[in-house]
Amino acid sequence: MSKKYDVVVIGAGPAGYIAAIRAAQHGFKVACIDEWQNRDGKYAFGGTCLNAGCIPSKAMLESSELYHRANHEFKKHGIVTGEVSLDVGAMQKRRAGIVRQLTGGIGGLFKANKVDGLVGHGKLLAGKKVEFTPVDGDPEILEATHVVLASGSSPIELPFAKFDQETILDSWDALELEAVPKRLGVIGAGVIGLELGSVWARLGSDVIILEALEDFLAMADRDVAATAMKDFKKQGLDIRLGAKVSETSIKDGVVTVSYEDKSGSQTVGFDKLIVAVGRRPYTEKLLADDSGIRTDERGFIVVDEVCRTEVKGVYAIGDCVRGPMLAHKGSEEGVMVADLIAGESAEVNYDIVPSVIYTAPEVAWVGKTEAEVKTSGRAYKTGSFPFAASGRAKAMEQTTGMVKVIAAEDDDELLGVHIVGPMAGELISEAVLALEFAASTEDIQRTIHAHPSLAEAVHEAALAADKRALNYINR
Ligand code: FAD
Ligand code: AMP
Repeated sequence: MSKKYDVVVIGAGPAGYIAAIRAAQHGFKVACIDEWQNRDGKYAFGGTCLNAGCIPSKAMLESSELYHRANHEFKKHGIVTGEVSLDVGAMQKRRAGIVRQLTGGIGGLFKANKVDGLVGHGKLLAGKKVEFTPVDGDPEILEATHVVLASGSSPIELPFAKFDQETILDSWDALELEAVPKRLGVIGAGVIGLELGSVWARLGSDVIILEALEDFLAMADRDVAATAMKDFKKQGLDIRLGAKVSETSIKDGVVTVSYEDKSGSQTVGFDKLIVAVGRRPYTEKLLADDSGIRTDERGFIVVDEVCRTEVKGVYAIGDCVRGPMLAHKGSEEGVMVADLIAGESAEVNYDIVPSVIYTAPEVAWVGKTEAEVKTSGRAYKTGSFPFAASGRAKAMEQTTGMVKVIAAEDDDELLGVHIVGPMAGELISEAVLALEFAASTEDIQRTIHAHPSLAEAVHEAALAADKRALNYINR
């Protein structure tokens, strides 16, 4: 006898586990299947985000930033320490502890919401049947009225730089290193490459990041990207743009990387090399041949604007479908499909998905860049405010960067907000809400911001768009 569910979710990353909980809150009988196994052999819910992505990277960014500040900033505050030393083992133990707590928390949430969390492999068969193979048992068939595919993504491997978990590393390996490599190479100056490069540079590695594109952070606003680049260079991150890696070889534990740049062929040697050239959708053994689900030429499951696949009653969400590969985008899709299954109307506003890079300074943005607004042909104005003029930022000793707002000239509609500076990832939430409510810069101008706060920089940038900044000379 096969088990019957209203909703079966395959994948318990931030897309899948949220979909499962929301569906259960609607009163459905829900199962969520996941096969993630950590390197200690234990199975855990939470997917890439909690086990090998967002959370462990932020844990390591925080620890390494504190180490860096203890070495470079405490003196300015009048704090005298003895020699500050490093215990990478303890740092890694803290990271693993945070991951364990949060992934265990999902199990608790499943229990509280009466979701059956099933550990093992899920495969979609024809007719909305799901074959579930527990990690320690035989396959069984689950019958579902609705299926949600949330199988996530995996790191892209370069054919000439195969992962070996020893010298050539993916982002997960790079988060779990037990010692600081002396010379660390990173291929790819995207979000993940920059965050991982920052962690190990702060802990003492000589880091070189090789990026094929000539433009730094091509998806970000140019002013923000230029400010970030200047500061990263000042910190000693050697970011080489227009450097296309084409070959690697390993000898005696040293990896030699060959790349082409404007001046011709170059080689450079590293003790460890992180390959961070992007991620691809993961649909390994997910779909039976007759499941009816189609993937596109890049491997993404084909869905419409509300995550419906071409099979009625089957949805797909998160990194395995089009759109930015971000945890919060996947979670919102999870909420949307659960609400749609419950017969409610729901949507995701794909124009207003915030992006954050958790380097120091942090980089965060939402809405359109200045270049995008220019291309659209709409007349616009901009306003910016530097953190150097913010009392709170000065008190925090973190004055690098600025807030930049872009708004329509005709009706003052806020079109984009771009931040490089302290806590940019937190500050951006105000901008996300403002864009969601179709706010004008005047709305932000007339909103009271606590003093002294970093958020005052958002307020002042909105004022600056009308040349009314109060704590900065308008230009
Ligand atoms: P995943 O988190 O990949 O989860 C999918 C789950 O499905 C996995 O547990 C997998 O084992 C399971 N699964 C797949 N197929 C099957 C199957 N057939 N049967 C059973 N289980 C299956 N995003 C942010 O928004 N902010 C960040 O700061 C951030 N930092 C990151 C840092 C790093 C180093 C990395 C690698 C990624 C980061 N991301 C970040 C991206 C984020 O992790 C992903 O966008 C997010 O995890 C996608 O969620 P998901 O649920 O779609 O997939
Ligand atoms: P992201 O997709 O944001 O994680 O960024 C990955 C980055 O890796 C992109 O900016 C790519 O241009 C870069 N990249 C991809 N292949 C190579 C390569 N062979 N050499 C150098 N950079 C690369």
